[in-house]
Amino acid sequence: MTSQEVRNQFLNFFKEKNHKIVPSAPMVMKDDPTLMFTNAGMNQFKEYFLGNSVPKSKRLTDTQKCLRVSGKHNDLEEVGKDTYHHTMFEMLGNWSIGDYFKKEAIAWAWELLTEVFKIDKESLYVSVFEGSEDDGLPLDQEAYDLWKAIVPENRIIKGNKKDNFWEMGDQGPCGPCSEIHVDIRPKEEKQKVDGASLVNQDHPQVVEIWNLVFMQFNRKANGSLEPLPEKHIDTGMGFERLCMVLQGKQSNYDTDVFTPLIREVEIITGKKYGKDEQTDIAIRVVADHVRAVAFSIADGQLPSNTGAGYVIRRILRRAIRYGFTFLDTNKPFIYRLVKVLGEQMGKAFPELKEQYQLIENVIKEEESSFLSTLEQGLVLLDSVINSSKDKTIAGDKAFELYDTFGFPIDLTALILEEKGYQLDTKGFEKALKAQKDRSRAASEVSKDDWNVLLTDAEQEFIGYDSLEANVKLVKYRKVTSKKEGDQYQLVFNLTPFYPEGGGQVGDKGYLEAPNGDVTYIIDTKRENNEIVHFAKSLPKEVSGTFKAVVDEKQRWRTACNHTATHLLHQALREVLGTHVEQKGSAVHSKYLRFDFSHFSKLTVEELRKVENFVNARIDGHLPLEENRNVPMKEAMEQGAMALFGEKYGDTVRTIRFGQSIELCGGTHVKNTADIWHFKIVSEGAVAAGIRRIEAITSDAVKEFYFNNNRMLFEIKDMLKNSQDPVKSVASLQEENLALKKQVEQLLKDKAKGLKNELIAELEEVNGIQFLAKKVDLDAGGIKDLAFEMGGQVENLFLLLASEKDEKAILSCYISKGLVAEKDLNAGTIVRELGKYIQGGGGGQPFFATAGGKNPSGIPEALDKVRAYVK
Ligand code: ATP
Ligand code: MG
Repeated sequence: MTSQEVRNQFLNFFKEKNHKIVPSAPMVMKDDPTLMFTNAGMNQFKEYFLGNSVPKSKRLTDTQKCLRVSGKHNDLEEVGKDTYHHTMFEMLGNWSIGDYFKKEAIAWAWELLTEVFKIDKESLYVSVFEGSEDDGLPLDQEAYDLWKAIVPENRIIKGNKKDNFWEMGDQGPCGPCSEIHVDIRPKEEKQKVDGASLVNQDHPQVVEIWNLVFMQFNRKANGSLEPLPEKHIDTGMGFERLCMVLQGKQSNYDTDVFTPLIREVEIITGKKYGKDEQTDIAIRVVADHVRAVAFSIADGQLPSNTGAGYVIRRILRRAIRYGFTFLDTNKPFIYRLVKVLGEQMGKAFPELKEQYQLIENVIKEEESSFLSTLEQGLVLLDSVINSSKDKTIAGDKAFELYDTFGFPIDLTALILEEKGYQLDTKGFEKALKAQKDRSRAASEVSKDDWNVLLTDAEQEFIGYDSLEANVKLVKYRKVTSKKEGDQYQLVFNLTPFYPEGGGQVGDKGYLEAPNGDVTYIIDTKRENNEIVHFAKSLPKEVSGTFKAVVDEKQRWRTACNHTATHLLHQALREVLGTHVEQKGSAVHSKYLRFDFSHFSKLTVEELRKVENFVNARIDGHLPLEENRNVPMKEAMEQGAMALFGEKYGDTVRTIRFGQSIELCGGTHVKNTADIWHFKIVSEGAVAAGIRRIEAITSDAVKEFYFNNNRMLFEIKDMLKNSQDPVKSVASLQEENLALKKQVEQLLKDKAKGLKNELIAELEEVNGIQFLAKKVDLDAGGIKDLAFEMGGQVENLFLLLASEKDEKAILSCYISKGLVAEKDLNAGTIVRELGKYIQGGGGGQPFFATAGGKNPSGIPEALDKVRAYVK
């Protein structure tokens, strides 16, 4: 059975049981502050479990792209070393939102595995939660009894909190679970060792394939459990592991999910899979990581230096480094796998196929730059090794390489081992831990539980129509972080405040209490499904009705920039072509920023066209046509632009200005004429194949022109009111160039004169042509002069001094012949003479320079050298 068939059969099985098939959510999270990446199928349904929103259907099924590389579920370090954990994997799942519970979940899982997929019942084991004293929970007797009716008791395992109590993160929905494990060992081995004893023991052939979670609780900030309003089912089955079982393989990497990628790695590197363990690990790492990175880029998350982007960069670097160290790749090659991946997964995940070119470019660029870092690191490591006296490399040196140059520690260790050196691992770990502690302390956020004032209050956003409303506080809490200090988060029943989203910043404004007290709202964000307002303080009296007022000016400027962003998007596709895809945008009140895929720098001509296109639409007085409830399908038919990696509901909001239609939740002007004018202020690259434009509108453009104008007046003024300042500046530049030439010539003549003068002053002492003298030149001039004289005069010994800005310089030149014959060393000499000018220096035996802060010591230094030579 091909993997494609496995996926379809799973979904169809649950469709027949009245589940609605839904699409995978993006892998990269956008509005959940507790999670960077989707780590389980249930993430996108969290709000349903918590009772904060209601699903279209109470039974759902899907395959979800998951990434487990950070936070509570982090498998990164295992990946490649074992054969059944991946960074990115698909999780097949079925969900009941307050509908069926344990009985059906267990029966259907068993039916699917044993009757549809025909997995041998004898090779399956199940587990139930044994209970936990910490949480005051007993054995899950209900699940135990349900399983007892279908499997013999010796194949039911009681598991602890770690294995049988599933939690998404430190907070959030959770509950006991029942796992299904499968023993895929050959018959002989099964007879020797009982499979039950290998469950949950990290045995690569006795693995968990499916987890049935019985969602019952919400884990609160203080660690306590609170029962959920309703009970739910959340199941997750590892797609790649299921394929392994159904295709009769012993490793996920031997299934058709991975073999095409592995074959391609073999072709590119000339290495064979299955011959040597270290090579195999490296090949698995590469085949796995390219998927994680490609899917993230497709979802709009590029590798970068912070946050989710940094995690992606690290995954890719791990693959590059395994390739570099074990597959002998010193040129980019991982990007070459993207094509194979697209061919294989593009059907189930079209975003991959459609953005293939971009993904390839980004990966290639990352590879090149990290490979050159690796090379630099090798050179540095060499110098560290050379300066080591006792065959040990200090931990802090290795840490510096790791931290400053991104040079991986395992590679450092490996190279040292090869050269017979030792690494102070403890010292390294200590330095690493110290750094982690520092950054943790800086980013630590502690959140109190919510203080709920109104239960059952629905929340409504009215900010498209009003900037003011009478509101009631539903709940609030204190949040403390090192970065922001103490802040309060407030949730209202009704709000005109736009929460940050779709690139647009959150509204600011204030809250007025009945007694006239004012609390400032400094930001607004959407967290999960709620609109959260941030304030530095709490109103004295929290009950009662407040007047909530949005800062109108900021909102207005932001709206101008948001509408202009849509017009810019349209303009770029018009001027550059439809390969232009939005890759990020930031809509602030002062400016807008737009990132998009395009492969070369925009020419001045193109920029002008883009600007003109947008301004023509502004001058066209195009009215806003907003539609808040269009079925997704209809919107797409109208040609609305949607973004990859964005989650859309069944109905969407469309924003149209003339021919520009976008799916958008942001706030806009009523008419493009409101924007007044659009001006691009910069264009540049952000990553391979991604350009960035920054632009301004309305008031900011006025200010821009005003400032430019003022500058022009100042320039004219400096030019004594020239009628044509451009011409005047050009002639000044010309004049300046001519003067520079003259000065250079004069200096040359002077140096020549000086050289002849000095040669005439040379004195012969013991076969040495000697002179010690103070001259009026800078260090560079002295050096040139000394070398020129050295080329002309044999057996030269020159000591030239000079004084500039209260600083002294001494330079010593000795002909190479003399250095050898008389065993002289200019370096030692200047170091010695440095004393007299209160400084130091050094250099080579034939030329060295010392600098010091005491010019009055120059005559003494000259006397000393005279005495020395004589
Ligand atoms: P394991 O103990 O094997 O790491 P888990 O307990 O972390 O698994 P769950 O969180 O219950 O797994 O996830 C549900 C299912 O997803 C698992 O039964 C497994 O089949 C699959 N799965 C979990 N982690 C990975 C991974 N890193 N790569 C591939 N599949 C995975
Ligand atoms: Mg795990």
